[in-house]
Amino acid sequence: MRQQSGGWTMLSAAIAASFAAIGAAQVPAPGPVPPTTPAPAPAPPPINPWAEAVPPNLEAHIAAATKAAGLDLWGILQLCLPVGLEAPADNTASPMRVFDNLYFLGMKTLAAWAVTTSQGIILIDTLNNPAEAEMLIEGGLRRLGLDPARIRFIIITHGHSDHYGGAQYLADKHKAELVMSNADWAFLEGSQAPEPRPDRGPVPKRGRGVNDGDRLTLGDTSIELHVTPPHTPGTLSLILPLKDGAMTHVGALWGGTAFSMNGNGEYFATYAASAERFARIAAEKGADVPLSNHPPYDDAIAKMAKLNMRTAGQPHPFATGPITVQRYLRVAEQCAYARGRALVEPRPTQDPSGLLKN
Ligand SMILES: [Zn+2]
Repeated sequence: MRQQSGGWTMLSAAIAASFAAIGAAQVPAPGPVPPTTPAPAPAPPPINPWAEAVPPNLEAHIAAATKAAGLDLWGILQLCLPVGLEAPADNTASPMRVFDNLYFLGMKTLAAWAVTTSQGIILIDTLNNPAEAEMLIEGGLRRLGLDPARIRFIIITHGHSDHYGGAQYLADKHKAELVMSNADWAFLEGSQAPEPRPDRGPVPKRGRGVNDGDRLTLGDTSIELHVTPPHTPGTLSLILPLKDGAMTHVGALWGGTAFSMNGNGEYFATYAASAERFARIAAEKGADVPLSNHPPYDDAIAKMAKLNMRTAGQPHPFATGPITVQRYLRVAEQCAYARGRALVEPRPTQDPSGLLKN
C-alpha cells in the first residue's frame, strides 16, 4: 500500500464514493438495529485502483501497464517495448492553439509548447537546433498570431539536445532567460553529458537553475517544476494552469519519457518512483490533461485533429480527466518496473506455442 495524502485522498474518496453508491443501490434499506449489535468496523481507507501494489514479476507489471493503458493510452504503453520511437517519413505537424493559453509548436515526434501569460510567453523546450527553432517555434508562433519577441522564459525540461538544441539561439535573439534544473545544468557541464551531434544545437550557457518544487511565475501564470529523474539526473516535470473558454484545466507534463538503453535496475526503480511521486502530485493539483514533449506518447497529433473538428459544447480532446492522468503515469511506472524485471528474470527457453518452429 502507498501512503495517502491531501488531494490524493480526495481523489480516492471520490472513486470510493462512486463504488459505495453502486453498492448502496443494490442493498435493501436496513431494518431496526437490535441494541446488542456491535458498532460497525470503521470503513477501510479508500484505495486508488491505479496505485495498488503489483507482484514484482515481469508478467504482472506488463498486465498492470496494459490494464492502465486501456484502449486509449497505447502511446505511452510503447514504453513497455524495448524499442525507441521512429520518426515517420513525413514528420511535419502544423502549429496549433490547443488551449487558450497553450500552443503546440513542433513536429509529429517532438514538441515545444508555448504558454501565454499577461507578461509574455513561457516557452517549454526548443526542438533540435536553431534552424528548427527559427522555422517551427518562431515561425509557428507568428502563424498563430504571437510575437516571438515576447518570449521571456524558456524552460528546458531536460539536458538532451532534442530539447535544448534551439535554446541558446532563442535566448540570445529574444533576451529570454533559460530555466533548467540545477541537476541538469551540472549534468551538461559534467563528464556524463551526451556527445555533441552535428544535427543538434549547442549546449546552452548556464541560466537560471531550479530545484524540486520550485515555481516559475510570469505575470498571471505560475508553472510548478518537479524534479523527476532518471531520464536525466534533473528532468523537470511540469504542472501548468490551462484555460479553455470559461473552463480551467491543469496540465501534467511528464518531462522525460523514454528509457535509457543502458538502464540498470536502479535506473528503472528510480523511474518508477518518480512516476509514482509525480502521479501523486498531479492528483493533488487536480491535473486532468496529460501532456508530453514527444507527441507519440500523449497522442497530441490525433487529439489536435479532433480539436480541429470540435464544435461548441463538445469536451476538449486533451482534457481527458484526472483518472486518465493517473493511468498515464501508471503505465509509465509499470513499464519501468517491467523493464527492470526483464533484466533479472530468466528468458523462456521453450516455445510452448510451437510457432517458432515454422
Ligand atoms: Zn530526453
